[in-house]
Amino acid sequence: MLQAILDMLYPVRCPVCGDIVIPRGSKICCPCEKKLQLIAEPRCKKCSKPIENDQNEYCSDCERKDYHFDHGYSLWVYDSIMKKSISDFKYRYKKEYARYYIEKIVEGYGDTLNRLAPDVLVPVPIHKSKYRERGYNQAEILAYGIAKELNLPVIPDLLIRNKKTLPQKQLSDKERLKNLQEAFILNDKALSDYPKKLKRVLLVDDIYTTGSTIEACANALIKNGIKEIYFITLCIGKGF
Ligand SMILES: [Zn+2]
Ligand SMILES: [Zn+2]
Repeated sequence: MLQAILDMLYPVRCPVCGDIVIPRGSKICCPCEKKLQLIAEPRCKKCSKPIENDQNEYCSDCERKDYHFDHGYSLWVYDSIMKKSISDFKYRYKKEYARYYIEKIVEGYGDTLNRLAPDVLVPVPIHKSKYRERGYNQAEILAYGIAKELNLPVIPDLLIRNKKTLPQKQLSDKERLKNLQEAFILNDKALSDYPKKLKRVLLVDDIYTTGSTIEACANALIKNGIKEIYFITLCIGKGF
């Protein structure tokens, strides 16, 4: 009864078209779901970007760079449809879209993430001024949702975004990494408050572009003795 009233008052909106989802109980319209590009093989063994040639192990980005994180997974290709969906999720308060995202992540990668057996999930942080402005960190919402399903803890503030970074789009790869390298610092208090020694961390973010954000986070963790870093993101670009 209560659920029926809630559904009437707050009907579920489709994360693709924004319309009310029919039938009730679904989280996305059926035709809209078909438009999303789930990532399949062949994919990069490091970052999971789709690659053209299954003879290659890695995408051109991972081939060129010596990233320090272990490896990770993404669910969808970052195309114009997901770009719009994630942008509404992040900047237009469509926090409810997370329910669909989380369900799909757990459906597609729940087993894989369970096998990785991370000690904790850690969201990629945003700067505190952005947090104040927006009221939430989209990566944190995802981390909590996934962690709840996998029955794992989250340390939301293990990493802190130290300074405002320049918009990454205008920068070369090298500049991006430099720009980001000092941007993330480890929160010593959050680390010492955690009752066990952290060995394995799963970073959570919305989008993986070149990998420099995950790499910068990984470096901050590795510097503090955390050895294995994996990641999960909603979307990733293509490796060709
Ligand atoms: Zn729709
Ligand atoms: Zn790759």
